[in-house]
Amino acid sequence: MLAYTSRSGDTDRTRTRANLSYMAATSDYLERITRAQVHMQELGIDLMLVTPSADLRYLIGYNAIPLERITALVISPHKTPFLVVPRLEISTASASPFGDLGWEVIGWAENDNPYDIIREVSGFSQGRVAVNNHMWAERVLKISENLPKAHIELAAPIIGAIRITKTPTELDFLREAAAAIDRVHAQVPNLLKVGRTEEEVGRDISELILAEGHVRVDFVIVASGPNGASPHHELSNRVISAGDPVVVDIGGTMPSGYCSDCTRTYSMGDPGVEFIERYEILQRAQERSTETVFNGAISHEIDAAGRNELAKGDLAQYFIHRTGHGIGLETHEEPYIGENNQTVIEDNMVFSIEPGFYIEGVHGARIEDIGICTPEGAESINKQTRDLVIIEI
Ligand code: ZN
Ligand code: ZN
Repeated sequence: MLAYTSRSGDTDRTRTRANLSYMAATSDYLERITRAQVHMQELGIDLMLVTPSADLRYLIGYNAIPLERITALVISPHKTPFLVVPRLEISTASASPFGDLGWEVIGWAENDNPYDIIREVSGFSQGRVAVNNHMWAERVLKISENLPKAHIELAAPIIGAIRITKTPTELDFLREAAAAIDRVHAQVPNLLKVGRTEEEVGRDISELILAEGHVRVDFVIVASGPNGASPHHELSNRVISAGDPVVVDIGGTMPSGYCSDCTRTYSMGDPGVEFIERYEILQRAQERSTETVFNGAISHEIDAAGRNELAKGDLAQYFIHRTGHGIGLETHEEPYIGENNQTVIEDNMVFSIEPGFYIEGVHGARIEDIGICTPEGAESINKQTRDLVIIEI
């Protein structure tokens, strides 16, 4: 999926077969919380509140559904964390990996003010309060109402700084996710047929995403012919025709909670010389960016390597998005790979490299792999051929 799009919550394309059962060892959660507390001390943050989100799953393994009633993990730099939940959620919360940490789950009743509980139990009176980036605005406003002496800021420098590099277990989960989506791409040529619509092909791809081990379909882009020029293309009733290039960008979430995301470009028979030449330039651009990945590389250097290659073929003007995004418990997370981005890449960061070209009214293409930064450079965990896949018609 592209670095600047967000497609969560769309019930049409987001289909769930089973609940996520996110797993990490108790020792992993303890380490994450301890590291968060150390970051809080270093940054001078007095209190951190984390509501249901990937951040909450990452820190304590509790896959809570965001409800109108607040659930929050409450962390102070020098105290034992605790979880505040609606009373009816106590048993679910205790049964989650948080229960194994031996820390308190405090239930609040319908006539309690949960923000009073947070203030009283944490002992917070005034200072800096970090909240997870994806906390509902409604909650943030309630916090500022109930903790009037709180200076509220984002928790990204605390939690994002930990999530940005992956542990060996997380890397294995991401490799599994990549292998699963690769198996789907391997079957895409059987689904693409002249005369079928993008929607028909997209439906079949969704089935395969689940059949190959994901528990949720996060997005399915099938962009044929001129639709390939729109990176945001939704599935349409356009009939796939002879000579069409077809951009297929697909991803889902595995039982581990980790995500896949991979784009390949196909062609219905011969797409014409001009497209083939452009595709070859794109393929070199994707290789150049991949080769630029190493411990210490700066994000914008990886972006520039591919963009410069596209410029040689006069295609840079048609590359209208950044090169990539991190991936983990969310399809889009740090680090982002783009022009002007100063993030220093380190070993065990995982991100997409997905240059493309989009020529309005004509055609488009994209090649996307997820790569791990290793001491030997980028390890591309998507293994399907990056060549243009020409389907016999
Ligand atoms: Zn993608
Ligand atoms: Zn992507």
